[in-house]
Amino acid sequence: MTTATIDRSAAQSTDNVWQMAQRQLDEVAALIDLNPSVHEYLRYPKRVLEVSVPVRMDDGEFKVFTGYRVQHNMSRGPSKGGIRFHPDVTLDEVKALAMWMTWKCALVNIPFGGAKGGVICNPKAMSMQELENLTRRFTTEISIIIGPEKDIPAPDVYTTPQIMAWIMDTFSMQHGYSIPGVVTGKPISIGGSQGRDKATARGCLYVIDEAMNSLGIPIQGARVAIQGFGNAGLHAGELMAQRGYTIVAASDSRGGVYRERGLNVAELIAHKEATGSVVGFEGSEPISNRDLLACRCEVLVPAALEKVITEENARDVKAKIVAEAANGPTLPEADDILFERGIMVLPDILANAGGVTVSYFEWVQDLQNNFWEEDEINKRLKQIMTRAFAETADQARRYNVDMRRGAYAVAVSRVAEATAKRGLYP
Ligand code: NAD
Repeated sequence: MTTATIDRSAAQSTDNVWQMAQRQLDEVAALIDLNPSVHEYLRYPKRVLEVSVPVRMDDGEFKVFTGYRVQHNMSRGPSKGGIRFHPDVTLDEVKALAMWMTWKCALVNIPFGGAKGGVICNPKAMSMQELENLTRRFTTEISIIIGPEKDIPAPDVYTTPQIMAWIMDTFSMQHGYSIPGVVTGKPISIGGSQGRDKATARGCLYVIDEAMNSLGIPIQGARVAIQGFGNAGLHAGELMAQRGYTIVAASDSRGGVYRERGLNVAELIAHKEATGSVVGFEGSEPISNRDLLACRCEVLVPAALEKVITEENARDVKAKIVAEAANGPTLPEADDILFERGIMVLPDILANAGGVTVSYFEWVQDLQNNFWEEDEINKRLKQIMTRAFAETADQARRYNVDMRRGAYAVAVSRVAEATAKRGLYP
């Protein structure tokens, strides 16, 4: 490939999550001296599909929702990435999340590219029937670009195994036979994998353990604060408590709870299941989502949405390790402040890569119709996460940069190599 001119004027601001993603790539491109043509190629999504999704609501009326599927890069294999149902979904957010998936799959070295999907909707205000109607029609609209060899969706914020089952069924009905490999995060009864429900959290635990060991901090009793008590955060809390960490704070969209001596996580999960929120958990004090980020702990786990650790609050963080179970929780300016302060940030593409790794195992099992035991899944997951942590730390040391830049150096180099080797078609 020959050289190209790169206009970075759009990538200076971090108000926009897509510009933030591009800026992260630009920085690492300079760090690893990336070929400018490959850099330019990687700055944009391969394919963007916007769809209108008409849905029959329970009152008999139709409502039209907007949905997206973005495929960022497929140089290393079919693209992979979750589908988010949330009122704040934007095309730029989906583009950023798709790019991050490319890096994440490359970092853990699984043969996938990156994609993401989203529908602008409020699933909390919809009935199960309305959600099913929305999911089935959205699947139909994006079915022209998804498939086990093309692009494989998965769960993300406010999408569940049941929603994955509807995606699998809709796609299969259209083709006339069962195609479980079109989507991951499915229920086990229809081709889901053992261990997938806790995979993101388990992967996060493995890299936090590695980070604790590398910093020489004892695990037993180390205090943990978790923002976002959903799939990623709740299971992280559960597994970390079992491992010997003390969970001092947890929150969700309605607020948070704090207990200096540690929350009983099993009871907190039961409370969340019974009431829909962690708020009001007996024996705890209330804590705001903002204060939770600054509470006294060794490990902070942002496990909700993007852009929560900013230039304004990064100096208040007291944790020694920030493990990004969520995607994009730390703004680049905040990254620099945390690095200066000696706080180790385990970047999203490393800390939450356990989900896509076990999704990869699920896809492999579906294609082979051969299913593995959970011990086997967890053993392979641990190997992959431990290796990704070591490679990230190695590159961070080599370039004297933070772990995010270290992880990007590993991931972008792998994608760049595949992209350059394949060359430009036609
Ligand atoms: P989820 O819907 O299961 O949980 C999200 C949680 O965040 C809920 O408890 C919700 O109440 C809470 N929340 C929402 N808005 C909040 C706010 N403003 N403040 C505090 N809490 C808030 O979603 P999830 O699957 O756990 O995803 C959470 C994050 O983890 C996302 O960034 C997602 O992209 C990332 N992630 C998830 C997976 C996975 O396998 N589930 C994999 C990789 C990354």
